[in-house]
Parts: sequence; C-alpha cells; structure tokens
Amino acid sequence: MGKILQIAQLGHPILQERAEEVTDIFDPSIQSLIDDMLTTTADSNGVGLAAPQVYELKRIIIVSSHPNARYPYAPKMEPTAMINPVITWESDEQNKEWEGCLSIPGIRGMVPRSTKIRIKYLDRDSHEIETEYADFIARVVQHECDHLNGISFLERVENPKELASEKEFLKSIAKR
Ligand code: ZN
Repeated sequence: MGKILQIAQLGHPILQERAEEVTDIFDPSIQSLIDDMLTTTADSNGVGLAAPQVYELKRIIIVSSHPNARYPYAPKMEPTAMINPVITWESDEQNKEWEGCLSIPGIRGMVPRSTKIRIKYLDRDSHEIETEYADFIARVVQHECDHLNGISFLERVENPKELASEKEFLKSIAKR
C-alpha cells in the first residue's frame, strides 16, 4: 500500500506550474507515486487529487468520487488513476456548483464547468482509455486537469460573493 503524502497548500508556487507528461508509466517511481496518491486521496476523504498537489509535476490525477461528509451528494466510483489525461471534448452546456480543494482547506466556491466531457488517458497498465463523464465526476475531472496546468478553482470563481467557508457550506448551503 502507499504512503500518505503531504499536500501542497495554496500559495505554494508548484500549484501554479504546468505538470509534465509521464513518459514511462512502468517506472517504479511512477507506480509508487500512483499508490501513494491513491492512499493520500482515501486518507483525506478527497474525491480527486492531482500530482502537483503532492509536489510532483507529473500529469497524473486520481478521480475517486464517493459520497462523504465533504461531498454528501457525490456518486460512487472505483478510485481511478488517470495518466496524461486530455479532455478531448466538453459540452457547451455548463452548470455552476460548489467546489472545494484539498490544497485550499476551509473554502468552497461556485465554479462553472461543462456538464459533460470526453476524456482520453492512460491507466496505470498503460492502456489507452477514452470515456465520457457527466455532472459531478465531469466536474472533478475538469478540476483535477486544471491542476495539471497550474490553475486552481479560485481562478474560475466568477464572483467573490460566491465563496463560502466550508463550515457555512456544510451547515446550510449543502442542505438547500
Ligand atoms: Zn484541487
């Protein structure tokens, strides 16, 4: 099993850098990074994690949607490592929903995202996968892919009045 890694916090310059494509998925350092990212995501009750958040400028994301205290309405899926992910299509239709981020603890913001996406990536066995996601999972994928390009969700919040503390979010907003 993997180790629990430290998560870079907002303001650390690594969160603003572009991550690099993985060239050798079978390199033991990449395989153990994936294990560590899966363990870290589970330990922090996250629904997603991008490698720059654990101080590695590699194009690797974990998507791990499941209902939990931080996101009570999230659908359940098998935690999935996506390597060199590319969003090949996104719907013109967007919706705005609350997002949070393990690198920005205590803050939620309303972010517009495409409601449907198509994504191409390599799995950890180097198989090419192309699949579509909608709604919550599509949102998580877009959020994590942004991290690979040095972008945090705060940059996508359209109106500062659409920011909230996590405490207030869980107390009232999530129940609306
Ligand atoms: Zn994030």
